[in-house]
Amino acid sequence: MPAASSYAESAQRTFERIEKSKLNAFITLNKQQALQTARDVDDGKVTGRLAGMTVAVKDCITTKGLQTTCASKILTGYVPPFDAEVVARLRHEGAVITGKTNMDEFAMGTSTESSYYGPTRNPWDLTRVPGGSSGGSAAAVAGLESRMALGTDTGGSVRCPAAFCGVVGIKPTYGLVSRYGVVEYANSLEQVGPIARNVPDAALLLDVIAGGDPKDSTSVAEADKVTYTDHLVDDVKGLTIGVPEEFFGEGLDKRVEKAVWDGIMTLNKLGADYRKVSLPHTKYSLSAYYIIAMCEASSNLARFDGLRYGLRTGKDENWHTTFSRIRAEGFGAEVKRRIMLGTYALSEGYYGQYYLKALQVRTLIKNDFERAFKDVDVMAAPTMPAPAFRLGEKTDDPLSMYLADVNTLPVNLAGIPSISVPCGFAGRLPIGMQLMGKFFDEPLLIRTAYTFECNTDFQKLPEGF
Ligand code: GLN
Repeated sequence: MPAASSYAESAQRTFERIEKSKLNAFITLNKQQALQTARDVDDGKVTGRLAGMTVAVKDCITTKGLQTTCASKILTGYVPPFDAEVVARLRHEGAVITGKTNMDEFAMGTSTESSYYGPTRNPWDLTRVPGGSSGGSAAAVAGLESRMALGTDTGGSVRCPAAFCGVVGIKPTYGLVSRYGVVEYANSLEQVGPIARNVPDAALLLDVIAGGDPKDSTSVAEADKVTYTDHLVDDVKGLTIGVPEEFFGEGLDKRVEKAVWDGIMTLNKLGADYRKVSLPHTKYSLSAYYIIAMCEASSNLARFDGLRYGLRTGKDENWHTTFSRIRAEGFGAEVKRRIMLGTYALSEGYYGQYYLKALQVRTLIKNDFERAFKDVDVMAAPTMPAPAFRLGEKTDDPLSMYLADVNTLPVNLAGIPSISVPCGFAGRLPIGMQLMGKFFDEPLLIRTAYTFECNTDFQKLPEGF
């Protein structure tokens, strides 16, 4: 196909591709506005660091005038009157926002199968999941339906789909990126993160979205001092890479284990040292994460009562009946399960046994990382314990779905940054290597990931794309 001669033409082709696609990566398209922005870039009326570049936005991030559903029936039809801070920043830099991407309902999941709008498919194998919960964002990037995308990562939702779809995903340090306008699932854990086909694009998108925001008191101005793209340097000489043995535990697919070790050896050949480290409390991450996330979710989701946003069905009766009916109709099974479990864990008599204990364990996990980072600069491990699983394979067994998050959750509990980069294949399915860093050490993660990318050949497109 000849290269498009203008941004408008290129955006037009992107929409043709999306409209023919089998991936189901998008819930809502922003075609008219996107084409207008692209024309404005062509005419020089719109400029910026992302001028003319197509960016897809996960559907839990509010977009002014564009439906935002969180892939839930309960928010279907909700058109926000404001932009999330990250979206305002995209617009300010001239991005062509293609649309809102499919996800697990309210970001609860690892496969993008719990969406009210049907599952997204993995572009490498249409019978497999793209990962989740930002599966639409990663599939859109891997399937050339947008150059870059935003996802959110509460327990792995940027890195998991990036790994399953063979693209790059960054989970920033907690507080680096504003969460203003991001529909909350578990706010002490989540961050918005970039998904892109290569490290330079991911770093560019991070440059745009990172930075303090007075509208989100948990955000900090750390990023204002840094330009991430300045750290696209092909050099890891003298670095020490930690290999946390707990991340290579039982159930790890042999092909994943080999690909990640090969990746560590590649960095070693390029001048980085490596050593095994131990994060002994890792084994409690799964339980601690799911208790904390469900507790926060049960509280955050109380606002969806059908009166203020989205779904309003049937005849209004007394408040309790109306509220219960709308929530019963509007939420899917996984969301209901989490609201119930979270409410239970927070109830009187159980709070100390579950929630408080989980918070204490969280501190131990964070301390493990701090201790290990005294001796190493970066840590490397498999992002996911296995390549993308089949659609339907885990939907009847929530616990087996949760188990897939074993290597991504500790990072969110500790609040540290992490990047997933393609590091090999199992057959035709991509494998991701997760690089983890100290608080606000995104520059070093970007340098390490970029060096790896420059010296390897895993940045491929799925067949037929
Ligand atoms: N799979 C994890 C969960 O279901 C993480 C999801 C996320 O990061 N949003 O909670």
